[in-house]
Amino acid sequence: MLNIILFGPPGAGKGTQSAKLIEKYNLIHLSTGDVFRYNIKNETDLGVLARSYIDKGELVPDEVTNDMVKDFIIRNVNEQGFIFDGYPRTIAQGEALDRMLTEHNTTVTMMVALEVDEDELVKRLIERGKTSGRADDQNEDTIRNRFKVYQEETAPVAVFYSDQEKYRGVHGMGSVDEIFERLTHAIDSRSEE
Ligand code: AMP
Repeated sequence: MLNIILFGPPGAGKGTQSAKLIEKYNLIHLSTGDVFRYNIKNETDLGVLARSYIDKGELVPDEVTNDMVKDFIIRNVNEQGFIFDGYPRTIAQGEALDRMLTEHNTTVTMMVALEVDEDELVKRLIERGKTSGRADDQNEDTIRNRFKVYQEETAPVAVFYSDQEKYRGVHGMGSVDEIFERLTHAIDSRSEE
């Protein structure tokens, strides 16, 4: 399987690039943020719980997120591979993902990270909030908290994969096609184990 973690701060363009990557490599897309939003829209128990965190720009607890990912992997394990978008966001999630994939005799192939300047990201998120309908893109305090959480809890996940020699950083500024080109170059030039 080709299992790719698409990593980067809020607003880096993970959703846009994931849509293009799944098509090119025939992968299954797992965006934990999308799954939470789907549950919020349908007013499920998971949605009600997730919303109480998302609206404040906090992370949904690891156990809840990991259980959801576990179900998703079980349902799709016979496919060619996954793009994980917005997951793992903590070291504990990274460790859980490694365990889940090992149970299915597979592993994280690589983490590709979109590296984008933070000032640019705040501008992008505020723009996105005008059309995305996402409450968490419209409130400046929520946006700032998401960056704080990213720095404190999520950025260390890059080190976790870097230590496993699976990290590749990609310059995340430019047109959608330029960034896509850099990502595919990083993926295609990965070292096969
Ligand atoms: P995203 O669509 O990836 O920007 O995620 C939107 C929000 O959903 C985040 O700010 C978190 O509150 C929550 N969320 C998404 N993915 C995760 C995750 N892996 N762990 C915890 N919370 C998450």
